[in-house]
Amino acid sequence: CTSLISQMKDKEAYQRLNFLYQAAHCVLSQNSENVELARFYCFTQKTIARRLVLRQDPSVKRTLCKKCCSLLIPGVTATTRQRRKKRKTRFTVVRCLSCGQTKPLLNNPNYCLWVDQPEAQLEQHKPGLFCKHAVLIQAVLCIEMSRFAV
Ligand SMILES: [Zn+2]
Repeated sequence: CTSLISQMKDKEAYQRLNFLYQAAHCVLSQNSENVELARFYCFTQKTIARRLVLRQDPSVKRTLCKKCCSLLIPGVTATTRQRRKKRKTRFTVVRCLSCGQTKPLLNNPNYCLWVDQPEAQLEQHKPGLFCKHAVLIQAVLCIEMSRFAV
């Protein structure tokens, strides 16, 4: 019984967090000068999440400045720059225009996670295996795309 109540509270809290996040986007899209208001929404969102010990969605985390809680929208509240590390790893460096805080974001997290695995390095020396892997990725992509088409 108590777990059901806490589940409902969690759901309510998530809805509230989502609402605040949407609201921040909304006010910024209405007027790019609403930076402070958007930040207030994001700050409240972060505070609630922290207080209730709720895990924030990674996609939400990516768009919030961890220093000043500003909503990072390229061209509005943030600037982006492409960077490359170790030849193949590409980063987008997002810079908050309010406080100057920068955060590097991996352009393709899945790809990099896979490369980080030790067996991936072995496979790079075996073209046959690498191709098999590429076909597999393509198959997964096709399934994902067909799901969206329906
Ligand atoms: Zn900032």
